[in-house]
Amino acid sequence: MIDLRSDTVTRPTQAMLNAMIQAETGDDVYGDDPTVNKLEAEAARLSGKAAALFLPTGTQANLVALLCHCQRGEEYIVGQLAHNYKYEAGGAAVLGSIQPQPIAAAADGTLPLDVVAQYIKPDDVHFAITRLLSLENTHNGKVLPVEYLQQAWTFTRERNLALHIDGARIFNAAVALQVPLEALARYSDTLTICLSKGLGTPVGSLLCGSEEFIRRARRWRKMTGGGMRQAGILAAAGLYALEHNVARLKDDHDNAAWLAEALRDIGVDVTRCDTNMVFLRLPEAQVTTLGPWMQERGILISPGAITRLVTHLDVNREALQQLVSQWQAFLATQ
Ligand SMILES: *Cc1c(COP(=O)(O)O)cnc(C)c1O
Repeated sequence: MIDLRSDTVTRPTQAMLNAMIQAETGDDVYGDDPTVNKLEAEAARLSGKAAALFLPTGTQANLVALLCHCQRGEEYIVGQLAHNYKYEAGGAAVLGSIQPQPIAAAADGTLPLDVVAQYIKPDDVHFAITRLLSLENTHNGKVLPVEYLQQAWTFTRERNLALHIDGARIFNAAVALQVPLEALARYSDTLTICLSKGLGTPVGSLLCGSEEFIRRARRWRKMTGGGMRQAGILAAAGLYALEHNVARLKDDHDNAAWLAEALRDIGVDVTRCDTNMVFLRLPEAQVTTLGPWMQERGILISPGAITRLVTHLDVNREALQQLVSQWQAFLATQ
């Protein structure tokens, strides 16, 4: 199957599986798993933070970060379409009594700081206490400009807010900008990173921050059920990914750009292409027919009001060529 629904669909390669099989393990809840410790140290080094924590999912990593930053009755300012507002089942509100204050993102994926300023609550008994600004990089494939990150950093220092980056795909941003992770991470107090998207591991996310923050995060991870035992077999996949699968994200970006052009050439209404994501608009009648038609031909996509195609390490140029020729054949039947 050629699967363009998401970059979460990647499967571990033989080389990654070999690294997992050979991993040294121990009980990570006791801090005894050398491979997890190595992965956490590597994440801290790459992000320029003092410490890092390995968690099963990005959702849990964001939740734990929010639980650390905000107490009950406090709030975080976040994008209306941000993953840790819209797509994490309201976890911060349900489990932390933390109020989200969503605001609309600008076209470039940033949260305009003048708007953020308007939503910071005054110190008044009527209001939740605003604690945190949460950004997402990349946001729906969009790379936040470094200049904006700098401004957001300065702004949050002035306004006494913490700054969290949901960096599920932050390595896509770093590769697109040709900068090391640390050059983006330095404008945050904490950040999360997904290993299981474009980096290709089966499982795993990281939360990076100060020593003290990660110490507290470790307790929240345990409480939310993320304390794993011989997790070294999973951490080994993460270490393998950080070594071998970061620079190659450029291939995914190049493939997405190629795909956007090729689809435009056959008359598809491609609305934008950013990093590893292509967005397009289908004529109403094709929304329900294109998916099944492709599936019969071994191609998985999820057509909708807006259709998103995501490139990743399991789709090469040849697979994309197949997709384009099948799409052209489909259009000929319309
Ligand atoms: C996928 C994703 C997450 C959550 O990751 P899971 O491992 O699926 O829980 C968080 N934020 C963003 C922006 C994501 O794309």
